[in-house]
Amino acid sequence: MVCCRICLICIISLAVFLPDALFNEVFAVSAKERSLFQRSIIDYRKHLNPKYKKNVRKETKYIIVHTSEGGLQSTLKTVSGGKLTHNGNRTFGGHAHYVIARDGRTFRILDKKYIADHAGRSMWNGETNLSRVSIGIEIVGYHYDSITGQQYRSVNNLIKILQRIYNLNDRAVLTHSQVAYGKPNRWFQSDHRGRKRCAKNFDRRKAGLGPTWSYDPDVRAGRLTADKALAAIFYDSSAAAADVSEQNNVISKTNTAWAIAGEDYNSPQTLYKIPDGRIIAGDQIEKKIGWNRIAPNTVVLLNQQHLPEILAQTSPVKILSNGATAWSFAGREYNSRSTFYFLPSGTIADGTQISDWDDLPSQTRLIIGYKGPYAVNDSITAYRIAGHKYQDKHTIYYLPNHKVYTGNNVPDFSRLPTGTMVFLPAL
Ligand SMILES: [Zn+2]
Repeated sequence: MVCCRICLICIISLAVFLPDALFNEVFAVSAKERSLFQRSIIDYRKHLNPKYKKNVRKETKYIIVHTSEGGLQSTLKTVSGGKLTHNGNRTFGGHAHYVIARDGRTFRILDKKYIADHAGRSMWNGETNLSRVSIGIEIVGYHYDSITGQQYRSVNNLIKILQRIYNLNDRAVLTHSQVAYGKPNRWFQSDHRGRKRCAKNFDRRKAGLGPTWSYDPDVRAGRLTADKALAAIFYDSSAAAADVSEQNNVISKTNTAWAIAGEDYNSPQTLYKIPDGRIIAGDQIEKKIGWNRIAPNTVVLLNQQHLPEILAQTSPVKILSNGATAWSFAGREYNSRSTFYFLPSGTIADGTQISDWDDLPSQTRLIIGYKGPYAVNDSITAYRIAGHKYQDKHTIYYLPNHKVYTGNNVPDFSRLPTGTMVFLPAL
């Protein structure tokens, strides 16, 4: 250790050559970093819904990790203020102790001594209602997307601090998808795992965590039926890694509505983007399509209580507002070269130039599946660029005054100013 105190070359070469597990050992969080992290936590407690009834937790046995299935703004709003439930009621918030943004910023939602209402119907090792005995951490993002390096860094710090305070080992850290369970439904005749999918993409090693459960104690004891996909991820070391990366939110023969959304499959806040362009809420699928007849390639979006109208807009120019993220519109294409962003500041960026789907200001506009831009000037007209499609709805014009028009809405083509940028569908 003598040479390595501040030797950058050593650190870099270690980072390159060490396997992950060892890397975490070497870079175990220092006391100094922990205390810096602790002081950086943003106090968000004043936003807690005053109707949330705070009860002191008598015992702390677990730390439960969630993915929020949305962007930072809607996550903060939901966990602090509350959300709509299946039957149309509103909860009073208090749905997490901490929220970790994509850039690693960590928010304190509720003092850790109180019970947070975060785990819902849950069971672990025979014990139920785990909210009463656990801390809840929400990682901003989707269970079928990746968790960022900054988030792992923060969650590592946070978990280490909490483990110390409550004297918990690494086996005490579990994901919500591991501990949630559901009542019988169309897929299961008995109580079962799989009610929640959240944090199934949580990579313990990246969070600096060691040994964990190699089996589900409640499935083994016969209290619950296993969920095949989750069991493969959490308890079958041979199947795990590959499976997680292949899963996404697109319906296929093997990736059913249940596999993607768990119990939220038929929630009014779960939206199905059908390939024919329709957007149908989960509670309308049975009536309008039928659960067995959802087209392959339908995209499933969870937690979309503010979004139906926004997502239903048929213009190719999408606007980020009301909690919609770049991911809501573009999915994995958010960082593609053919996705273009028009920021409120006037900057144009393509997907490769943005750091994360949750890192864009409200009112940013985006177009997906485009090429360009092509500049209009005295000798290059819109017609020369777009041909007979120059007035088409799918031809996009970005004017020097930062206005965005679709071809069918351009007020006067003879007056398109020099410097107007034209974007054409990539296909
Ligand atoms: Zn959860």
